[in-house]
Amino acid sequence: MLKRTNTGSSPADRLQTERIDLERFDEPVYVTRPYLPPFDEFVDGLKEMWGNHWLTNNGPVLKRYASLLGRHFGTDNVCLFNNGTLALQLGLQGMGISGEVITTPFTFVATTHALFWCKIRPVFVDIEPDYFTLDPEKVEAAITPWTSAILAVHVFGYPCRVKELADIARRHKLTLIYDAAHAFGVEVGGKSIAHYGDMSMFSFHATKLYHSMEGGMLVFRDAGLKQTFDYLRNFGFRNEVEVVMPGTNAKMMEMQALMGTLVLRHIGELTSKGQAIEAIYRERLADVPGIRIPPPLPPEIRYNYGYVPVEVDEADFGMSRDRLYEELRKLNVHARRYFYPLVPDFACYQNVQTRDPLTVARRVAERILTLPTYSGISAETVERICLYVGEIRARAGTRA
Ligand SMILES: *Cc1c(COP(=O)(O)O)cnc(C)c1O
Repeated sequence: MLKRTNTGSSPADRLQTERIDLERFDEPVYVTRPYLPPFDEFVDGLKEMWGNHWLTNNGPVLKRYASLLGRHFGTDNVCLFNNGTLALQLGLQGMGISGEVITTPFTFVATTHALFWCKIRPVFVDIEPDYFTLDPEKVEAAITPWTSAILAVHVFGYPCRVKELADIARRHKLTLIYDAAHAFGVEVGGKSIAHYGDMSMFSFHATKLYHSMEGGMLVFRDAGLKQTFDYLRNFGFRNEVEVVMPGTNAKMMEMQALMGTLVLRHIGELTSKGQAIEAIYRERLADVPGIRIPPPLPPEIRYNYGYVPVEVDEADFGMSRDRLYEELRKLNVHARRYFYPLVPDFACYQNVQTRDPLTVARRVAERILTLPTYSGISAETVERICLYVGEIRARAGTRA
């Protein structure tokens, strides 16, 4: 499929000297594609639901799933929701967070929306250049008497500076909350990422590495919160005749719990496949000037390989990130600009006052491109994408 016209050169200068036909992929290559467990396993699970006519409201599949996750994370302090956004929103509400919360502009917009629905003012501060997580120094500088919490994001599953953030939170008596939507399976120092901070939210949306079709989970330190979260996700019902708080409907249903149970059996394969894909990108893009992959993570971190974000340096690459994005789309490769625009640049947050100039976040948002990775992608497809990126650059250079 790949036609090479100049063979025999070393791999290092191959991208410069060989001409590669930019042949469009027949099938679209999306940035991700949900993993699906063996169909028969799902059908077997459905039989239980068809047998007992129990589809939602804390049914047997959900209960088993919750205890499975409890064992997986080594804690009883877990609560399941119908999606990650409501998990985070109700988590903030249940913990009584108010006033100002220091957070990141470089995230999926749901992080900030959760604050909005709790009438909390987001205070955006800058991120760090290597792994795009909150810069602890900027966090500390933004603390005011109204600050109640820090809401940090393990963006792309890259762990935040958990020790520095914990230290700041302790010294200033702030609650430390993590949006761990991307970080299922990530460990720091041999410990699950869920055990850092006061509370972590995981999203099980179909586009995440680990999923339950739709779904969300809170893992939290204070066992006393469990009851509150259970009320909040189910209209505040204590029993048939008592409503103890104005809750909402955020329950996970049986079919989600079934999918989550089955995908959990395969989480090891999903991360090792992701690791193999990342290794190809890392090797093949290393020699393409203007493409930067985040450096390998330090050994104390076990990564989940859910995303392959790269930065495109326009000067070195010879074209902008947006041009590369368009060129790849023409070839049926649908990389995504996660996370661009920055949250404070969306119309609904433009009136939020931000003192921090967000220098790094602005630069990263202009350069970031998230490349396709998922369990069903072939090594050949990934290699071809890398060759295409190199060739697109070579042609841009020729034109310049
Ligand atoms: C996906 C995502 C969410 C929202 O999760 P849902 O389950 O889709 O509601 C929140 N934060 C981040 C960073 C996400 O990527």
